[in-house]
Amino acid sequence: MTTVLTTAVGFVVTGDWKALLYGRGPPYEEFEENADPEQHFQALLSLAQEGIQKGKVVPIGECGLDYDRLHFCPAEIQKKYFEKQFELAYAIKLPMFLHMRAAAEDFLEIVECNRDKFIAGVTHSFTGSVEDCDKLLSFNNMYIGVNGCSLKMIENLNVVKGIPVERMMIETDSPYCEIKNTHAGINFVKSLWPSKKKEKYDQDCIVKGQNEPCLVRQLLEVVAGCKGVNDIDQISKTIYRNTCRVFFPHDLDSADDALLAGCHDS
Ligand SMILES: [Zn+2]
Repeated sequence: MTTVLTTAVGFVVTGDWKALLYGRGPPYEEFEENADPEQHFQALLSLAQEGIQKGKVVPIGECGLDYDRLHFCPAEIQKKYFEKQFELAYAIKLPMFLHMRAAAEDFLEIVECNRDKFIAGVTHSFTGSVEDCDKLLSFNNMYIGVNGCSLKMIENLNVVKGIPVERMMIETDSPYCEIKNTHAGINFVKSLWPSKKKEKYDQDCIVKGQNEPCLVRQLLEVVAGCKGVNDIDQISKTIYRNTCRVFFPHDLDSADDALLAGCHDS
């Protein structure tokens, strides 16, 4: 996994999946801590432009609201700078990597108000309701991202079951958000890897207690299980295409060619 930038402009590419991740959580305090938020905005803009030129910046993220982290940043400040993140993404015509936690009402309202600035994106680590999901999917080019946090309870699985594969992405959110043995989704997991504690690191094993990029396959297995689909290959191709469409549109043709040739078996 390669972390390229982990401030307000950032992304991570995982192995051959090209699933997009980020720095953890929306980084609003950066704006407030800066003496001149507008100057900070301009600095982020230049950083993003430089990153685009170098081919290193793909989406703007994480953006969004996290009301489970109000102790880090009050809701009013989060909302104020969530708006600003739309401005940033629109200024450089990039998709957004979005985070919505315990904040669906405000989140959806702000996306609605900024609909004209929203090009495309994914609301990752989705843990919302069927209603939240439907509202998100009413925005053009919005995708829902599923990780281990999305698979904890039976209610979560029922929501995942209803997300159209054509509007879904999957992610590990490595090194966090693994599918734990206590999660409802664990029953659908088929692929397991040997693991060892980090103190006994072995390159042929995954690190015990740590989510790793290869485990994205487990996400696929649980999504397929929820939907009652046996052939995970078709789902994986559709999800892969979704990811390319939003984040790597220029790769789409070559990705399609590779898929058709059967040389991408993720
Ligand atoms: Zn997040």
